[in-house]
Amino acid sequence: MFSLKELVRPNIWALKPYSSARDEYSGKEAHTFLDANESPYNNPYNRYPDPLQRELKQQIAVIKDVRPEQIFLGNGSDEAIDLVFRIFCTPGRDNVVTIEPSYGMYEVCADINNVECRKVLLNDSFDIKAQRLLEVCNDCTKVIFLCSPNNPTGNTLNHDEIRTVVEQFNGIVVIDEAYSEFSSQPLWRPEIDRYPNLIVLNTLSKAWASAGIRLGIAFAQSDIIALFNKVKYPYNVNILTQRQAKDILSRRPDVEDWVKLTIKERLSLMYAVNELDICQQVFPTEANFFLARFSDANRIYDYLVSQGVIVRNRSRIKLCGDCLRITIGSPQENTTLLSALRRYC
Ligand code: PMP
Repeated sequence: MFSLKELVRPNIWALKPYSSARDEYSGKEAHTFLDANESPYNNPYNRYPDPLQRELKQQIAVIKDVRPEQIFLGNGSDEAIDLVFRIFCTPGRDNVVTIEPSYGMYEVCADINNVECRKVLLNDSFDIKAQRLLEVCNDCTKVIFLCSPNNPTGNTLNHDEIRTVVEQFNGIVVIDEAYSEFSSQPLWRPEIDRYPNLIVLNTLSKAWASAGIRLGIAFAQSDIIALFNKVKYPYNVNILTQRQAKDILSRRPDVEDWVKLTIKERLSLMYAVNELDICQQVFPTEANFFLARFSDANRIYDYLVSQGVIVRNRSRIKLCGDCLRITIGSPQENTTLLSALRRYC
């Protein structure tokens, strides 16, 4: 049986969290705030932000069809990833399991927190088998991190295999859906009501075109979200970010247009790259980037740099020999990349 209390680090379960001035009084009726040692001057940024980002969560709850208490907001989804370690993994004892290749921060956060990171290599189609993940787990495995669509491979992981992991693993399963807006596959966010061990990550950094404001989102049942709130810094999302996030979230039609354009450009760019003699393979993708294998990725990468075009050289990563990861840019940026690649040939 799944027991949240048994999974959480005992010191975190017992933690009495810091109570900020805005936690203790959050009503709207008062007009004279002399409780937080703020300056009364320099409007509009002299006041602390709402520590629980209530208005922003209301807006996200409607868009993502969840309840506000099922939402954690952080300084990028990287903050949520780090908090998962700090909530569930006792340093020097517990471990997490993830896939390889995948987003590098799962392992970096494991290393920072002195937690072992066990990596299971993807198969040749960059996919998983649930059994292979489950068999590397032991009593000290607290979390399995999955990323779908996966970075850097771009593909979504098999839904049934993920379901087996979520259903059979007795710890926390984090599914990072940072790129899900570009995918036509079923999402995991709607499943949080069903699975008490599921955490789904989203971000405003990709489809919502707001990497600069740093806003990441974790969705989970409210008891897990309460733990995030207990451990996070009191005012972890600043006023400017909250304001700008509300603005971009109210511009959904624009965002949908950008996503549609990106998907259209993805198709034509992948087709054109695949036609090049120097390209050996373009891998299927559901994200705003794709992975492609070239005749000599290092040389082509250096050449592109010399032309002022920067892609990501992934050729030293397992299963990604001679691969470059290419982000879908604007139509003009994509044309610039293609012209440069054609000149190389
Ligand atoms: N998850 C994945 C899979 C990513 O690729 C990235 C960033 N490249 C992130 C999370 C981090 O997103 P954020 O900007 O919200 O920290």
